[in-house]
Amino acid sequence: MRSAEIRQKFLDFFASHGHHKVPSSPLVPAQDPSLLFTNAGMVQFKDVFLGKEVRSYKRAVTVQKCMRAGGKHNDLDQVGKTARHQTFFEMLGNFSFGDYFKRDAIHYAWTFLTEVLQIDSQNLWVTVFETDDEAYALWQEVAGVSPDRIVRMGEKDNFWSMGDTGPCGPCSEIFVDRGAEYACSDHCGLGQCECDRIQEIWNLVFMQYNRSSDGVLTPLPRPSIDTGMGLERISAYLQGVNSNFDTDLLRPLISAIEALSGKVYDSGPEGMPFRVIADHIRAITFLLAEGVSFSNSDRGYVMRRILRRAVRFGRLLNFQEPFLHKLVPVVEDVMGGAYPEILEGAALIQQSIEEEERRFRLTLEAGMKVLNEKLDALEPGETLSGEEAFVLYDTYGFPLDLTLDAAEERHIAVDQEGFDQAMASQRARARSARSHHQEVQNLPQLDATEFVGYEHLTLEAVPVEHLYIG
Ligand code: ATP
Ligand code: MG
Ligand code: MG
Ligand code: MG
Repeated sequence: MRSAEIRQKFLDFFASHGHHKVPSSPLVPAQDPSLLFTNAGMVQFKDVFLGKEVRSYKRAVTVQKCMRAGGKHNDLDQVGKTARHQTFFEMLGNFSFGDYFKRDAIHYAWTFLTEVLQIDSQNLWVTVFETDDEAYALWQEVAGVSPDRIVRMGEKDNFWSMGDTGPCGPCSEIFVDRGAEYACSDHCGLGQCECDRIQEIWNLVFMQYNRSSDGVLTPLPRPSIDTGMGLERISAYLQGVNSNFDTDLLRPLISAIEALSGKVYDSGPEGMPFRVIADHIRAITFLLAEGVSFSNSDRGYVMRRILRRAVRFGRLLNFQEPFLHKLVPVVEDVMGGAYPEILEGAALIQQSIEEEERRFRLTLEAGMKVLNEKLDALEPGETLSGEEAFVLYDTYGFPLDLTLDAAEERHIAVDQEGFDQAMASQRARARSARSHHQEVQNLPQLDATEFVGYEHLTLEAVPVEHLYIG
């Protein structure tokens, strides 16, 4: 089943059960500085859950563009390693604003999977929050799931929060068993390992609380439902392919990278550069289409980090010249039907990517030479100092995650605390130099948060972790 058909079936199924079809909101959340990017379908409904906003409908269904590359939900360093993570993905979701609760949420999800998509219930597993006896009973009663297929899990997996603050609640998740051929070991199983055999596809969140900045949970005005199913994951399962990257959503990009590089994709660890590039070019195209620009702070810096990560992986495929922009037409081909916004500024998007890549390439080779020399001097299991990682960041524009990736390929660690310290002392030096300069000039003191980088270091910036908690 093609992904476009899955999107449509999802929208139609929930619409036929009284859900209002609501378009995806932007990746950059409107007026929500607590969040870097929209990381789930519920983000645009946050105020509705909190009771601050009332809509004309009590049930909604969406296909939401999501980004998980910073803040609480950050999958950047997972991308390329697992079969199931991207930074950019689409989330199918149904929502109840104080209308139906656990029983119907379970009923709808089960009916959609087993009747509309015709997934064999023998391949499905579910989890519930460890103390949620109600959900445990409902899965048996409403869906006929046998108790040995229901696993109780703790807060890490089964208590969902959008960010450090905001709506949250216990959740119950549905997993598909992709078959014994994907088993990681004899002990492979749900809750036993982290492998991709039994894969999470759908999260049903029983929205019950609001978490305030002091960590206190207050009940929401009315218990609500928020669900999210990754389109790429359900597509991979229904298309019977190895990973999200082999679906009709991402495989065309992998094929284009094969054509441009003259190399053949391998679905094992060797294929990582292909997967990273395929994901990252989608993410960058969507962010640029929404008006985010490459910069040295917050969202623009995350986008810059994503591009630089893609460029370094491109180097492993021997790309010597800017190449990322050549993939934009493929993204538009695959995604432009569902998201026409990426077609509008197409030429500008390509131009901006090409310029940014060209700019980074000015220091990439010199930086890689320095980094490789430093890594050559270390044995697997040893650690690159934070100071050295900071020099790469400061002088060659290497975001820390790029250095981490390169070191990890050789099983070398990086002292991240040391890196943060080096950054902090550099900032302190800059601050004292600046205040001295201001005293001399008798200028008013600038607010520290206004300071985002040094004029002469046009390539680098304050890492976003220091700016946002999302
Ligand atoms: P995982 O444990 O696999 O990282 P998650 O528990 O973090 O997933 P949720 O926050 O529950 O994911 O999001 C709801 C659904 O969105 C998931 O069940 C999955 O189908 C999809 N999803 C989450 N993160 C990603 C991602 N990085 N790439 C693709 N799909 C994702
Ligand atoms: Mg996750
Ligand atoms: Mg999970
Ligand atoms: Mg989950």
